[in-house]
Amino acid sequence: MSAPLVDRRGRWSNWGHSASSTPAAVAVPASEDELCSLLAAAHREGRRVKVVGGSHSFTDIAATNGTLVSLDKLQGLTSVDPVSGLVSMLGGTRVWTISDALEPYGLALPNMGDIDRQSIAGALSTGTHGTGLAYTGYSGIARGFRLALADGSVVTATAQENPELFQAARVGLGALGVILEVTLACVPSFMVRADEHPLPLRDMLGSFVELCRSEDHVEFYWFQHAQQVAAKVNTRLPADAERAPLSRRQILFDDELLSNGGHRALCELGRVAPGSVPALNRFATKALASRVYTDRSDKIFVSPRRTRFRELEYAVPLQDFEAVFAEVMAAVNGFDAGITFPLEVRAAAADDTWIGTASGRESAYIALHRFVKEDHVPYFAAVEPILKAAAGRPHWGKLHTRTAEELRSVYPRFDDFLAVRDRVDPTGVFANTYLDRVLRDAPGRA
Ligand SMILES: Cc1cc2nc3c(=O)[nH]c(=O)nc-3n(C[C@H](O)[C@H](O)[C@H](O)COP(=O)(O)OP(=O)(O)OC[C@H]3O[C@@H](n4cnc5c(N)ncnc54)[C@H](O)[C@@H]3O)c2cc1C
Repeated sequence: MSAPLVDRRGRWSNWGHSASSTPAAVAVPASEDELCSLLAAAHREGRRVKVVGGSHSFTDIAATNGTLVSLDKLQGLTSVDPVSGLVSMLGGTRVWTISDALEPYGLALPNMGDIDRQSIAGALSTGTHGTGLAYTGYSGIARGFRLALADGSVVTATAQENPELFQAARVGLGALGVILEVTLACVPSFMVRADEHPLPLRDMLGSFVELCRSEDHVEFYWFQHAQQVAAKVNTRLPADAERAPLSRRQILFDDELLSNGGHRALCELGRVAPGSVPALNRFATKALASRVYTDRSDKIFVSPRRTRFRELEYAVPLQDFEAVFAEVMAAVNGFDAGITFPLEVRAAAADDTWIGTASGRESAYIALHRFVKEDHVPYFAAVEPILKAAAGRPHWGKLHTRTAEELRSVYPRFDDFLAVRDRVDPTGVFANTYLDRVLRDAPGRA
């Protein structure tokens, strides 16, 4: 059962409490026809519409004072080809339902991010990714869309049919149309062995890129001032590999108590006693236990995030990772307040999307988090210029300050995206403040 879209005062806000708006109307269409009629009427009457997925973007990308639409009633698989692995599903499908739905067909998503609360269309629209140098984010496995355009018409977009619209829609920012249905290239189901352990910071930094090449999925967490990192190395195993999942005690103690409840307590303590943060961070790094466990892929890729935070994440060219991260660390250690959330570092394959963060280049992802009750602005401002100077590309769903002119310089196909957007939504039915900032100087739209 999904939470209501707006509160009693009619206000929508996102998971990280970093974006909110008061929509003029809220709609949860029960059919595609209903949705298309709503779009056609908005188009005729000059009103704005925004589809929201799981409200898990930190930016105001999903905010609107027009009509806020949820596709929660338009979920589920629509076709599965177990031989090719091509799977179609409705745009509102929540990511957490996909793995169970694919299991009877012996299929799985090739890779996943840290959480599965998103809708598949929301995850695609912001370029959501996981870690693993042989794997792209969700947009890299998109093979086709059915989209409802601003005037309520429905079009198909694949590499063969409306190819430009297809390329743009793979990371479409909700700016092009409503994703009614998407086809994804899935893979035979598999198990994953997770190996979580602390490592000396220096060892991890020197070997991160190499490790990413030799292992399937590598990520690490580094706390301000810590000399160790918490590493997670995941190995893909055949579907019939023996399961050795976390015990109930480990789930309760490590994940719920230490990683969620305990970490929240630590954040609260760090807020009232900032001087204790270095000691708290040393404790937190050690508390992230050494453990090895094996389970179905989605159960390893995804973990609950119950302590709310705000996040900034940039993709930088993989080959520059070590130098960029050294600068980032110096800025974080030099920041004049204690930070109780770690930085998270991941990597992903290059893809051929137009404005995906890994478009055309292997990427290292550097993410900063700050506890929801603390002001993230000065912290992110201390680090963002370093990531920007490194030709970094901000995650479209995570906090950043970049504008259209700056984003054009890091995306060779930026103007192609804008041209498609101008063609399919010339009057800005899907526009909002965020899109005005990141796309505003589109031709004919300045
Ligand atoms: C705790 C947490 C963990 C996260 N972990 C990761 C991670 O590991 N990796 C990563 O890359 N990101 C991560 N994110 C970011 C998150 O994956 C993205 O912001 C994602 O877009 C959220 O999906 P959503 O369904 O909540 O979309 P929303 O935030 O609701 O919407 C995002 C965009 O999608 C558009 N949209 C939604 N549905 C449709 C549709 N049907 N058609 C067209 N456009 C649509 C919206 O209009 C909006 O523009 C995380 C976020 C949180 C809060």
